[in-house]
Amino acid sequence: MGKKQKYIFVTGGVLSGVGKGVTAASIGAVLQAKGASISIQKCDPYLNVDAGLLNPREHGECFVTRDGAETDLDLGHYERFLDIELTQKSATLSGRLFFDLIADERAGKFEGKTVQLVPHLTQSIQRAITAAAEGSDIHIVEIGGTVGDYEGLSFIEAIREFSQCVGRANCLFIHVVYVPFIETSKEFKSKPAQNALNDLRGFGIVPDAVVVRSDNPAPHSIVQKISLFSGVPEENVLLMPNADTVYRVPTLLAKSSFIKLLTEFSGLRKKPDLSKWDKIVSLQISKPKKSVTIGLVAKYIDNEDTYMSVIEALKAAAWHEKVGLNIRWIGAETATKKDFEKVDGIVVPGGFGVRGVEGKIDAARYALDNNVPYLGLCLGLQVAVIAAVRKAGVGSTNSTEFEAKCKNNVVYIMEGQAGKESTGGTLRLGDYPAKLVKGTLAAKTYGKLNIVERHRHRYEVNQKFLEQIEKGGLKVSGLSPDGKLVEFIEAPGNDYFIATQAHPEFRSRPFRPHPLFVGIIKASKAKK
Ligand code: GLN
Repeated sequence: MGKKQKYIFVTGGVLSGVGKGVTAASIGAVLQAKGASISIQKCDPYLNVDAGLLNPREHGECFVTRDGAETDLDLGHYERFLDIELTQKSATLSGRLFFDLIADERAGKFEGKTVQLVPHLTQSIQRAITAAAEGSDIHIVEIGGTVGDYEGLSFIEAIREFSQCVGRANCLFIHVVYVPFIETSKEFKSKPAQNALNDLRGFGIVPDAVVVRSDNPAPHSIVQKISLFSGVPEENVLLMPNADTVYRVPTLLAKSSFIKLLTEFSGLRKKPDLSKWDKIVSLQISKPKKSVTIGLVAKYIDNEDTYMSVIEALKAAAWHEKVGLNIRWIGAETATKKDFEKVDGIVVPGGFGVRGVEGKIDAARYALDNNVPYLGLCLGLQVAVIAAVRKAGVGSTNSTEFEAKCKNNVVYIMEGQAGKESTGGTLRLGDYPAKLVKGTLAAKTYGKLNIVERHRHRYEVNQKFLEQIEKGGLKVSGLSPDGKLVEFIEAPGNDYFIATQAHPEFRSRPFRPHPLFVGIIKASKAKK
């Protein structure tokens, strides 16, 4: 029998949204650097079937995996930190599990038994964990929300039972808590964290380690208090104040007392080589002489999480080019020429719905007319095509997404998709190949002709208008292998104007930036 698989469960207390995902991913990065193969999974207790229909303003970006799962943005952290490509198996949602359980019940698969949260839902959760863990040395499971949340109880019970089945010694439970600082009395308060640890114990889980998040560095007395009340040894209570960059967290972990725990648990004695993280951190904190300003023409400008992968991809490209990066948010609904004049390059990211779309079309048109470096991502391609055809003098031009009955539907609904516009799971999702046209900027930027990118869209360029698109200054530079779908366009008259129907941001990595993003940063730098 091969060596026993190990499991790390990351739960949260006090508050959600304090960096459980980054903690889980960073632990994975350290263990990876020690030579372990890592798999990772997010369990989300809410009742949605996938993250596709969640409002990005509230929930942040919808991250898409190569096999087309619409997931929480934490999967993006995982991919960037661990440089792996995840699948549907790594995104486990209550809604999906219920959906399948109820379908089984309706199909009579329970043979008259009462179907219950325990054991039926808990067993589904355990099966999902086993499936996601397949093939790795160490599997990391992050449980969304905080322990004690009504809807998350089945997950906590499921992982408790799971640890019994696979052997407690093969599991590491890490609880991430938050310690607030009270401004008036100038003290950190550990009480909510203590209560959160009690909650976890109440469900039968005694954690092996506690990560204590805080906005600013907390004193060692907090460690002592938490250790005393939770029974977790002091060396396994780790203070983790906000870091200047999230990419510093793997190194911080490796340098902390946690490394002993991770070494013992994994049995991997090798000292982790974290030099690639150190390099990223030093690039990120360096102050390059030159900076570029990229205008991000967006609908949601009050929540950076909404465009997490795009921003990370831009940052990675800027580090690669050793240039400072200012991201200037341009509200798509109010954007004017004045906003576009202030930036060195323009990015129009993905989006759905009519709100703000005219501002995005204006942005593409401005970039096209003024030779401003432009990168269009999915909707960013569609608005560029609309801008070009309008520039060619064709009136009543739009996408049918924004104007159902427009005369010249240069972007239109894909065959077989009509009528499903507001339903979940009906998009073109995940990896699709494209063939780039030889000699084009796209081909040069990628350095190859056959590429694969992730998708998440429903509308397509209407190739009936190819002539008008060209007249407006754009040409097609990449198509689906059967030639039916436009995947890339570019402006041959401009220095760097390129757009794709895909979402290349999902494949960018901090230490391996995506060529399209490197391209726009380089072109914007050259304009300075
Ligand atoms: N709303 C457009 C479509 O569905 C673009 C989607 C996107 O940008 N991801 O085709």
